[in-house]
Amino acid sequence: MKIEVVTTIPELFDSFVKFGVVGRAISSKRIEFTVINLRDYTHDRHKTTDDYTYGTGIGMVMKVEPVFEMFDEYVKNYGRPWIVYPSPQGEIFDQQKAIELSSKSDVMFLCGRYEGIDERIMSIVDEEISIGDFVVSGGESVTMVFIEAIARMIPGVVGKHASVKDDSFFAGLLDHSNYTRPPSYRGMEVPEILRCGDHAKIGKYLLKDAIIRTAKKRPDLFLKRDFTLEEKAAIVELLREKTC
Ligand code: SAH
Repeated sequence: MKIEVVTTIPELFDSFVKFGVVGRAISSKRIEFTVINLRDYTHDRHKTTDDYTYGTGIGMVMKVEPVFEMFDEYVKNYGRPWIVYPSPQGEIFDQQKAIELSSKSDVMFLCGRYEGIDERIMSIVDEEISIGDFVVSGGESVTMVFIEAIARMIPGVVGKHASVKDDSFFAGLLDHSNYTRPPSYRGMEVPEILRCGDHAKIGKYLLKDAIIRTAKKRPDLFLKRDFTLEEKAAIVELLREKTC
């Protein structure tokens, strides 16, 4: 898939594109990533992308012209991307949204700064997405989080796709607990069953563990979950274990 980030501070993405899952997704060409410097679409000496707010005059707003000039050029060369404006006023991002965006062929993130963007820019925006009910100073850090989540959902990006399926929220349950070596540390043991080599037994144990964690940590997710037959059987076993 193609991802573009439109920003006034392209340097922020320099190391982001080099490391970890996103870095590998880009180097293996599963993501074609482009950072677009909005200042390249200005015509004054200072490369100005912001101006005073009409009405109150308080704070600065991102100007409409550079964004539209960038948009026109992009569409002429590559076609119309799906445009996301990271904004505290949008719907809150979640795993479903990551999956949905990962299936698009071309997504462009418009990073706001200052008080936000000139409202007329909204005429080319397809959706506003928020990272949560708080305000940060720019869309760049938010966009990085969104791209990290989207990249994991592109098949082949995360080594074993199975490990993505176990992630919290992917299937509506939190991830089970995980351990690595050593088996014993300061009196804390890795559960014996995880070392027994019986994959059916281990699978059942981890499913129960995920169910218990979800019920304890996120009862809201637990209560609204449409449990599968396998999960219901695991819950029955858990109840039996508790009562005998
Ligand atoms: N005055 C605006 C906030 C501007 S913050 C308001 O109150 O709605 C500057 C930029 O940071 C925004 O344009 C947006 O791109 C980004 N941003 C800030 N908080 C965000 C959030 N919770 N989710 C997504 N983007 C956010």
